[in-house]
Amino acid sequence: MNHIRSSSLFAQAQRHIPGGVNSPARAFNAVGRDPLFIERADGSRLYDADGNSYLDYVGSWGPMILGHRHPAVLEALNEALRRGTSYGAPTSSEIDIADLICEIVPSIESVRLVNSGTEATMSAIRVARGYTGRDLVVKFIGNYHGHVDSLLVKAGSGLATLGISDSAGVPAAFAATTIALPFNSLAAVEECFEARGDKIACVILEPVVGNMGCVPPGEGYLEGLRKITQKHGAVLIFDEVMTGFRVALGGAQQRYGVTPDMTTLGKIIGGGLPVGAYGGRKDIMAKVSPVGPVYQAGTLSGNPLAVAAGLATLKLLKGEPQVYENIERKAKMLAQGVAAAAAAAGVTMTVNRVASMVTFFFNPGPVTDWDSASASRTDVFGTFFRAMLDRGIYLPCSQYEAIFVSASLSEEDIEATIRAAAESLKEVASKS
Ligand SMILES: *Cc1c(COP(=O)(O)O)cnc(C)c1O
Repeated sequence: MNHIRSSSLFAQAQRHIPGGVNSPARAFNAVGRDPLFIERADGSRLYDADGNSYLDYVGSWGPMILGHRHPAVLEALNEALRRGTSYGAPTSSEIDIADLICEIVPSIESVRLVNSGTEATMSAIRVARGYTGRDLVVKFIGNYHGHVDSLLVKAGSGLATLGISDSAGVPAAFAATTIALPFNSLAAVEECFEARGDKIACVILEPVVGNMGCVPPGEGYLEGLRKITQKHGAVLIFDEVMTGFRVALGGAQQRYGVTPDMTTLGKIIGGGLPVGAYGGRKDIMAKVSPVGPVYQAGTLSGNPLAVAAGLATLKLLKGEPQVYENIERKAKMLAQGVAAAAAAAGVTMTVNRVASMVTFFFNPGPVTDWDSASASRTDVFGTFFRAMLDRGIYLPCSQYEAIFVSASLSEEDIEATIRAAAESLKEVASKS
């Protein structure tokens, strides 16, 4: 397969777009290729500008849980489009989606729609600060919450050291309001709260991490965070932008049975269009403007097209709960098949999986936090990624992203993927 047109488009794109991409996750920098330009998608498949087709394990980085061009979603979009595209005034479908979100995720009693996951987390921490009257935010190393100034911090060394931003352009004073702790260590959180608990507005985390690859919470970890935050009067925010409607219909909080104070949503909630949301306890959300003093607004928030796609997706997922068993079974098949192929080829691999999120790490593991995730051989990952791409399998182009299994992938698709992985891993073994 050749990528002549994609590479030519990439060269053109770089003239007027930084790095040729509108989000850095799309650049293939970590895997030493030019990104593919996608022309269309259908079901489980992506089609690139050179006419090649791929089984899609990225799913637009999470939203496309039902696969591409689901008929019910297209129909809802067409219907909304016939009426208009944006009014900047309330519409009844916003009530429908808010009611549905609160029903599916009971810890959310009140919810505000925004346009992205980044807006959701940015707004949620502002509300948490407004509610508590405190400034500090606790996050975890290797957790990603969008490109919010004060959340672009992984800090790293020392437990209670003040954060330093990973990004240029973030004022040191903003980063200094963030404390970054190692994921899966309750001791670190306890120590931090003992020292400065009365200044901490909130703890925000990915309850199942997807953004350092898939890393599940350890036994009792989420419960422990619930207890510590409650004791110190800090708001517990589950960032379920990725895990919401993914690891269970009601997200990680349903799967693990732990109730946060606030939740952020994105990705699946828009069914492939730009929607995010934040919500939670009624007394906390009562701080949001126009009822409360925390300002947050959006010209296109609750956009009728975006809400139509999101609502259709959520209704389908709620109406067919067997979707979750189905995609989990296929993800398990994939994880087991690839692990067996790695063992047969003599390639060291650790497979992490929660529901339909999967990551293949190239180190002995266990992978439980950023230190163990970043010990993966990313050069080996690169070889594996390229070998899979050459065989028509489109994986996330970074070691630190989760593979998503969608409902449109058939068992035959999974079997074909495992066969491609077996060949690719032999190639990996021969090159390392
Ligand atoms: C993707 C993601 C975000 C950011 O969402 P955008 O829509 O890209 O702004 C925030 N948090 C988590 C956990 C995510 O996976």
